[in-house]
Amino acid sequence: MPAAKGPGSPPPAGAPAAPPAVTALSPAALAALLGGLGEPPFRARQVRRAVFRRSAATFAEMTDLPGPLRERLPSSLRTVTSSEEAVQRSRDGTVKLLLRMEDGSRVEAVLIPEGGRTTLCVSTEVGCPVRCAFCASGLEGLLRPLRAHEIVEQVLHARRRLAADADAGGGGPREVTNLVLMGMGEPLLNYDAVAEALRALRDPEGVGLGARRITLSTVGIVEGMDRLAAEGHPINLAVSLHAPDDATRSRIVPLNARYGVVRVVEASRRYARATRRDVTFEYVLLAGVNDSPAQAELLAGHAAGAHLNVNLIPFNRVEGIPFEPPSADSLDRFVAVLRKRGVVVHVRRRRGEDIDAACGQLRLKAERRRPGPGAGA
Ligand code: SAH
Repeated sequence: MPAAKGPGSPPPAGAPAAPPAVTALSPAALAALLGGLGEPPFRARQVRRAVFRRSAATFAEMTDLPGPLRERLPSSLRTVTSSEEAVQRSRDGTVKLLLRMEDGSRVEAVLIPEGGRTTLCVSTEVGCPVRCAFCASGLEGLLRPLRAHEIVEQVLHARRRLAADADAGGGGPREVTNLVLMGMGEPLLNYDAVAEALRALRDPEGVGLGARRITLSTVGIVEGMDRLAAEGHPINLAVSLHAPDDATRSRIVPLNARYGVVRVVEASRRYARATRRDVTFEYVLLAGVNDSPAQAELLAGHAAGAHLNVNLIPFNRVEGIPFEPPSADSLDRFVAVLRKRGVVVHVRRRRGEDIDAACGQLRLKAERRRPGPGAGA
């Protein structure tokens, strides 16, 4: 695993440290900081609401604060720690943001408008330690986990991007309605930061997204799944099963050696029972690897029961990764077997194909364009 070091250069010796960000402070720490500036306790609530609810990027736009305070705050506080570095727009409306963290590392967040919903997909780690055989995010391994506020800030940037695009006359959606933790990284290997981010995301005084509108996607970290249910985060769960038997799954998901198919399926059923939320088995179809009718039969057995369903994802090609998507015929056959067995199955439409929408691809290209320490060939 490479050292957790970002490509950004350290500030010169003696340079003043950047002030703390509202997103990175607890409500009590923010109140204490503002109290030190002679402000009453309710200011903290005003500032938090401006940053988390209204996604304010600057203090100047917090017009509910007194003018002199708005001018003073930037020397003591920042709104966020990350910035938008690049935006890619697909013809189908998908918008991909490349965000730059304070230490120079980059993560992706993707906005996917569909019907009346706009789903945002956020990252939970820079890179990923899991190294699934078909996934671009794992190619470089884990660079570092994200901190809770860096996960939350992706939502704030996305909301601002939507509002700016709508104001510019794009006619697109204005609000993030649904959130999926399905970008780069394995969220349940960064449990504490993810749980803290979930609290801020669900907090009605914070970002204010309901648990039913949030889905976390995991490769199947069994302890993390149990903990999530036990600690009262009743969000939807997506579990990356990808194969119905250990021999096939071990070929494409290295963590299968630790959490085999049966344990992952049992943990999924426990989660569905405990939370009464939907558990979706994700299944990336790879031609000739996991797309046979016999494998569909086995998968149907795992997915039988209440609150369980299957999401089939035709492989999204990644440069340098030697898999192929299934033929239309084998996809149809696979779906037919599952439906015949009564399984609720969706086939994920490909989105943003013209903009490197597969997990980890945009970041990978940005890194490859930028020779220097850590940049791959
Ligand atoms: N680590 C988590 C979340 C990130 S990956 C997990 O494993 O679930 C989100 C989903 O995208 C996973 O189901 C993953 O297997 C899938 N995925 C990754 N690369 C893909 C590709 N090239 N084509 C299709 N799906 C892919």
